[in-house]
Amino acid sequence: MFQVSGEKLDIDALSAALENHAAGAFVAFEGRVRKQNDGRRVDRLEYELFAEFCEIEGNRILEEARGLFPIIDVRAVHRSGMLELGDVAVWVGVLSSHRGAAFQATRFIIDSIKSRCPIWKKEYYHDGPTEWVGCPTCEHHAVSAEKVFSRQQRLLGEHGQKALSASRVLIVGAGGLGCPSAQQLTAAGVGYIRLCDGDKLDATNLHRQPLYGYQDIGSYKAVLAKRRLEEMHPFTKIDAVAHDFTPRNASTLLEGIDLVLDCTDNFAAKYLINDRCVAEGIPYVQASIFQNNAQLFSYRPGESACMRCTRPEQPPADCVESCTDAGVLGAATSIVGSYQAMEALRTILRQKSVATTYTIHFDLEEADNFNVKRRRDPNCPACGPRPRDFQYEDQVTLEEGEQTYSMLRDKALTWVDIREIHEHDPSIEASIRLPLSSLKREFFADTNQTFVIYCQKGRRSRALLKELRVKGLDHVLGLKGGLEAMRKAEM
Ligand SMILES: [Zn+2]
Repeated sequence: MFQVSGEKLDIDALSAALENHAAGAFVAFEGRVRKQNDGRRVDRLEYELFAEFCEIEGNRILEEARGLFPIIDVRAVHRSGMLELGDVAVWVGVLSSHRGAAFQATRFIIDSIKSRCPIWKKEYYHDGPTEWVGCPTCEHHAVSAEKVFSRQQRLLGEHGQKALSASRVLIVGAGGLGCPSAQQLTAAGVGYIRLCDGDKLDATNLHRQPLYGYQDIGSYKAVLAKRRLEEMHPFTKIDAVAHDFTPRNASTLLEGIDLVLDCTDNFAAKYLINDRCVAEGIPYVQASIFQNNAQLFSYRPGESACMRCTRPEQPPADCVESCTDAGVLGAATSIVGSYQAMEALRTILRQKSVATTYTIHFDLEEADNFNVKRRRDPNCPACGPRPRDFQYEDQVTLEEGEQTYSMLRDKALTWVDIREIHEHDPSIEASIRLPLSSLKREFFADTNQTFVIYCQKGRRSRALLKELRVKGLDHVLGLKGGLEAMRKAEM
């Protein structure tokens, strides 16, 4: 609520009105009457304002702040009439779960009040006549969408910019490709982004995932990315989903979405995204990168070949090396992720693109790109007239916290073998051996590392995992199918 007050402000009462124990941060701004301005001694000052217009515009600013920043509550009051030295002239209070949003919203509000509300300030000087004064610099730090997107709008036109701000994009994967593409789309003013990734940040991610820093290690990437992107670009609403895209949550994640960016690094996810987008008629842009070679294409329903038109069956998960084994440069993932964002913009703006009919191959070492035509298969099992009911066995049967070996193998994890002593054979060299019969649950208390427990076939680890998850130990994972599934994947 925004108010104009002719009375001295009661700061304690204003703060108390915003009390809410669900909020982790309370930021208040107090603008006070100072005793000098530009070297001249000031005795007091006077505010003249159109109270009614001021309150309408002030409340509009607070509503905008609620839309732009994840805040819980907000209040602002501006004085009118004569003020003495030290009096509070304007007060803004913001409650939020996190301090970052509270600081940003407070600044947005005070700057906007200064630049938009019809308020005039008259200073009474000690050594001469009174003068009307303003703050000519305030308008420079008030955020305005028109200004932020002005250079881009010259290319896209007002209509194009509006299309971006009305668009809703799902980005699957907040890693090497997801970071640059999310960054570009928020910077361009895409209105809504849902960002999903079930991974926590590992030190080995930092060189190619520029949204994160050293201090973020161990936190969920989706949550980190949301926080960072909202700090940089307040015009995009972002929802973080700290979970992988799976057959179970696919429909929920695709709800209300106009376009999907496939920034994943495994075939299982890529086929799943393809099948669900084809079934629901949602366009997507897919990219993959391996060392200095990358591929990208854009699927538009009814126009393009889908992934199964050219490769009907999903190849085995372990048939290609991953970035962890092969190595990849951050500059390379940034180029491809940015290109993916470019294709996303083309799709939203309904512009033509070669990526809808060709797969673009990037050779980042030789700077030699080439396109390969993709043809629609009239009998495609996904986009053809009789689509198949695909089964995603590995994932359908995963319990909470359980993952397949291909999902786990490249991660920095502490492997714990819970088989009994008589079962042991030299399996994974780096494993810790803690037989289930004598295992102390406190061993898993250290939340600084991610544990993965495994047994022979995956049954005992599944039971233990369930028990640990009930206790809130969500940094413990389980290997589906146990050692036997691992050996099978290694063959
Ligand atoms: Zn197809």
